[in-house]
Amino acid sequence: MKKLTFVLLSLFSISTFAQEVSEERIKTIISVLASDEMKGREIGTPENDKSAQYIAELFEKNNLEYCTGNSYLVPFDYKGKTAYNVCGIKKGKSEKVLAFSGHFDHIGTKNKSGGDHIYNGADDNASGITALVGISDYFKDKEPEFSMVFMAFNGEEKGMLGSKAISEDDNMNRINENIAALFNFEMVATESQFGKNAVFITGDEFSDLDELFNKYAVDGLKIHPDPYAKQQLFYRSDNVSYVKKRIIAHSISTVDMTKAKHYHQPNDDLSIVNFTNMAQIINNFSKTVDKLTPKNFSPKYNNKVKFD
Ligand SMILES: [Zn+2]
Repeated sequence: MKKLTFVLLSLFSISTFAQEVSEERIKTIISVLASDEMKGREIGTPENDKSAQYIAELFEKNNLEYCTGNSYLVPFDYKGKTAYNVCGIKKGKSEKVLAFSGHFDHIGTKNKSGGDHIYNGADDNASGITALVGISDYFKDKEPEFSMVFMAFNGEEKGMLGSKAISEDDNMNRINENIAALFNFEMVATESQFGKNAVFITGDEFSDLDELFNKYAVDGLKIHPDPYAKQQLFYRSDNVSYVKKRIIAHSISTVDMTKAKHYHQPNDDLSIVNFTNMAQIINNFSKTVDKLTPKNFSPKYNNKVKFD
């Protein structure tokens, strides 16, 4: 009887225990990545490697599997040296994959006399990494319908180098072939111009992803159309590496371009982060993803999108 109870409890825990993300947890992750010690996480620096290593440790603690090889660190060449993307996968009931990504590199430091010379990049894009780690927290002890891949891209600030490299890496083919949709988180630390518990998606007019997602969205979370569509952010962020492969891939953001004064400035640090709003968005995003299955969620591009 004891044994049976144990088996039943184990089954129960696998299918139901979700781990909501606390504000404390969010604060911890952003504080490490956006700390002065990380010196702005510029690609090619030891601090960039250290950031990749830290993200790999978070993936390991969440029991993710390696995407390829025997490490979460997926190497690529940067100016004759090795730089790393970070990739982990969570197997679900289906081979079909939902991908969650964000870039972890930022623009480093500048030699300025006096004042703050470290570009901490709390919003850009420690916040995006925190979102994808938070989602993997939520599913740590669950078996999701979709398999889930988590990718932290490097070298975005130098021209989306990391996402280009990993999207074209043949070792990733099996995963790429199965991606039903990729959500790329880019600057989600502040309240959007649509208010709290709201994000916008780039390139909403190119697919039905936002409509499908919103149909299942929980607790008032909403994906809004891109208010800055004229700036063509859809083609200017890491998701584009996957768009070229005809994979459904959009960027998700909360940045309010009408007000934000921290973009690529030294004041993009912890002081501008709204932890409460971030926690609400990450938890509601996870709960929504929990309702998606390969049957009810299969977004498609329309003919307005340009693939090359
Ligand atoms: Zn960015």
